Amino acid sequence: MANPSILILAGDGIGPEVMAEVKKVIRWLGDRRGIAFDLSEDLVGGCAFDAHGTPLTDATMARAQAVDAVLLGAVGGPRYDSLDFSVKPERGLLRLRKEMDLYANLRPAQCFDALADFSSLKRDVVAGLDIMIVRELTSGVYFGEPRGIFTEGNERVGINTQRYTEGEIARVARSAFELARKRAGKVCSMEKANVMESGVLWRQVVQEVHDREYPDVELSHMYADAGAMQLTRWPKQFDVIVTDNLFGDLLSDLAAMLTGSLGMLPSASLGAPMANGRPKALYEPVHGSAPDIAGQGKANPIACILSFAMALRYSFDLGDEAARVERAVEKVLADGLRTADLMGPDGGVPVSTSAMGDAILAAMDADL
Ligand code: NAD
Repeated sequence: MANPSILILAGDGIGPEVMAEVKKVIRWLGDRRGIAFDLSEDLVGGCAFDAHGTPLTDATMARAQAVDAVLLGAVGGPRYDSLDFSVKPERGLLRLRKEMDLYANLRPAQCFDALADFSSLKRDVVAGLDIMIVRELTSGVYFGEPRGIFTEGNERVGINTQRYTEGEIARVARSAFELARKRAGKVCSMEKANVMESGVLWRQVVQEVHDREYPDVELSHMYADAGAMQLTRWPKQFDVIVTDNLFGDLLSDLAAMLTGSLGMLPSASLGAPMANGRPKALYEPVHGSAPDIAGQGKANPIACILSFAMALRYSFDLGDEAARVERAVEKVLADGLRTADLMGPDGGVPVSTSAMGDAILAAMDADL
C-alpha cells in the first residue's frame, strides 16, 4: 500500500522556520517508528507570489486536493501589504480552504501544566484543560445572502443573513461526534435557539444526527452566550464544543486565550471523507508569519508541531504517536525550556526554534 501523502506549504516569515522542526519530527517517525510518509513541498502566500505572480498556483491547488493532508506554516508579511486584494498572500490560504471545502475547523484549547500561570484565569481553572472547539467554517452569517449596505428611505442599512441548511449542520455535527469518540465522548452544541430560527434548526439537526448515528456520545445543548460564561467559569466541564461560524469565531478565540501564548496553538480544518476514508484536511498553527521575529531563530515551533500531531491523530489514525509528540512537548515545558514568547516576568534564557525542536525529539526518544 502507498505511504500516506503530505504536502508541506511552509509559506512566509517564520513559516519555514517552524516547519523545519516539524520535518525533524516526520524524519524521526520514519527512523525510529518505521512510519513513512510521501512528502512533497510547494509554495503558498507571498513566496508563491514572488515566484509565480499568484499566492497559489492551479498546480499547487491540484496537489493539495490529491494528498491525504496539507501542512501549512503561515503566510503574509509587510512586503505584500500593498498588493491588490486579489493576490494578497491570505488569498492563497482562503482558496485552499474554499476549494477543499473544509467545513469543520478544529481548535483545541489545551493547557500544559507548566504554562498554567500564563493564563489570565486562576491556575486551578485551567491546569490540565483539554477541550476542542469545532467551528462550522464555510456557511452561516459570513456567507449568507442577502448581504450588503443598502439605502432604505433616507438612511443606510447594513444587512447580513444567517443561513444554514440541514445538510451543512449535519456534516459538522458528525465531525464533532466523530472527534468525541476519539476523546472523552462528550459534545456540547452551542447556538441561540432562544432568539434565532437558524439556532432552532441547528439544535434539532444536531439532536437528530446524535439519536440516529451517535447515541453512544453524550450530547448537551447550551445557548452560546451562556457557553461563553461557562468557558471562563469552569472550562474543564467541556470536551468537544460544536457551534456555527460566527459563534465559533468568538468562542474559539476566547478558549484559545485561556491557555496563554499564540506560539502554542494548533488547528485543523477538515472536509468530507475522501475515497480512502480520510477527511480532506489542512493543518496549521493559529499564529501568522510573525515578521517581527522572522529569520532570527526565535519562533516557537510548538504550535506547528502540535498541528502535525493533530494530523497524526485525525488523518492517519496514529493517536499513539500523536500522544507521544504531545507528551514530549509537555516534558520539555515541565523541564523549563522556553522560547522567547514563553518567558515570564522572572526572565531566564530563551532557547532557539531549533533547540526547542531538538529537545522535543530527545523527549520522544526517551519515551520509546
Ligand atoms: P502573528 O501571529 O504573525 O504575530 C502576532 C505576535 O505573536 C507577534 O508579536 C509575533 O512575534 C508573535 N508570534 C506569533 N507566532 C509566534 C511563534 N510561533 N513564536 C513566537 N512568537 C510568535 O500576527 P500578526 O502580526 O497580526 O500578522 C503578521 C502577518 O501574518 C500578517 O501579514 C498577517 O496577515 C499574517 N497572518 C497569517 C495567518 C496565517 O497564515 N494563518 C494568520 C494570522 C496572520
